[in-house]
Amino acid sequence: MSIPNANSLLDELRAVLGDDSVIAGEAIEARYRKEYFSPQPAACRPLALLKPRSTEQVAAALRLCNAYGQPVVPQGGLTGLSGGALPQDGEVLLSLERLRGIEEFDESAGTMTLLAGTPLQEAQEAAAAKGFLLAVDLGARGSCQIAGNVATNAGGNRVIRYGMTRQQVLGLEAVLADGSVISSLNKMLKNNAGYDLKHLFIGSEGTLGVITRVVLRLEPLPTCVQTAICAVDSYENVVALLRHAQRRLSGRLSAFEVMWADFYALVTTRIPGQRAPLPPGSPFYVLLDLQGADAASDAALFESMLEQALGDGLISDAAVAASEKEMRSFWHLRDASGEFSVVWPTVASFDVSLPIGRIGHFVDTLRGRLEARFPGCEYVNFGHIGDSNLHVCVHVPGTTPENFPEHDIKDCLYGLLRDYQGSVSAEHGVGVHKKEYLPYSRTPEELALMRTLKGALDPKGILNPGRIL
Ligand code: ZN
Repeated sequence: MSIPNANSLLDELRAVLGDDSVIAGEAIEARYRKEYFSPQPAACRPLALLKPRSTEQVAAALRLCNAYGQPVVPQGGLTGLSGGALPQDGEVLLSLERLRGIEEFDESAGTMTLLAGTPLQEAQEAAAAKGFLLAVDLGARGSCQIAGNVATNAGGNRVIRYGMTRQQVLGLEAVLADGSVISSLNKMLKNNAGYDLKHLFIGSEGTLGVITRVVLRLEPLPTCVQTAICAVDSYENVVALLRHAQRRLSGRLSAFEVMWADFYALVTTRIPGQRAPLPPGSPFYVLLDLQGADAASDAALFESMLEQALGDGLISDAAVAASEKEMRSFWHLRDASGEFSVVWPTVASFDVSLPIGRIGHFVDTLRGRLEARFPGCEYVNFGHIGDSNLHVCVHVPGTTPENFPEHDIKDCLYGLLRDYQGSVSAEHGVGVHKKEYLPYSRTPEELALMRTLKGALDPKGILNPGRIL
């Protein structure tokens, strides 16, 4: 499915990038075809892999591909889970991994300027060494790359306090499909000089341009943390606890993760290496924490917040982490969502959002629908409920990858989500996996405007074609 004059395009690419930066199809390592969590590389045949070393090389490569009408997939750490960065047959894979490193650290502005392929964890550690927090954080921090986080507007564990990746980006540099470089490396929090162009690229999953540099806003680094798991007996009380904790901790609540009883039971009984900090049987378990800078006063405030919640009947029980080891074991429980493949050979995973007040009702209704449609199915509900983000995983016992009814499960869940006016993607993006269901969350007029933008920025449709829209 390659373009007709693919060989002459490859020759021209070699002339501008150098032979070692243009790897032909058969020689591409499998890791460029394999998403985080997937056991096997995808069976696809990209035309070539490009590994540019500079913005200028990215621009030169896109200029050539655009002239030839050659589809290009920009690629970061492949941790997005929506299939958006996986190449398809005949496409050119554009890896940003050689654009790596921190270019500038501006302590007065409280910003860092990074090259696209810098791993998130490397950036976090560099910020921490200077006493700053880079507030983007997610489980794949060691593998994901900063421009990928920006291109997908990644969420993660700290959104309740600091917002999505979008809120941490002050400026960026991006290359358009025709090779023009848009340098918008702003460092100011306030800047209303016309359209804020960076937002065209944040969350557009590589369909409008290729991000090559990013300016991130940094926060003061918290030096201590208080963590607890609470048992809660109704969803109404989960929401009441969220509001109570936010008020009492004066906006310093830094995580509010909810695990339904189904999640807690599966993780504590079937996933090895897990310990239950509270007895089973409660309908909900909430993991919450306070990040601050004064251990003694924060601990007193955190305890009094929990005591009041207990006294007011918002929670029925609580375990406070007494050590860093215990704190890590609480988070290990929540992060066990990455290990479901240990117990389930087949699973459909969802990343949706709904107004916070409706999530409990949605889960109850979904449970009824799933059990009626797939008798004996197993499922877990959990998520960053403080950010309105619900994750659901569904398994049907006895199924194999060949006969797993994944599409029917998606129809069932997304159909219900549409009735609740939720979003089919909370934090992972649309990619290819959720494309079919995008109209469930967006109006025809919104989709038409997205197509207008795509046509204006990439008239030949070479950038990540077939993703999102
Ligand atoms: Zn998540």
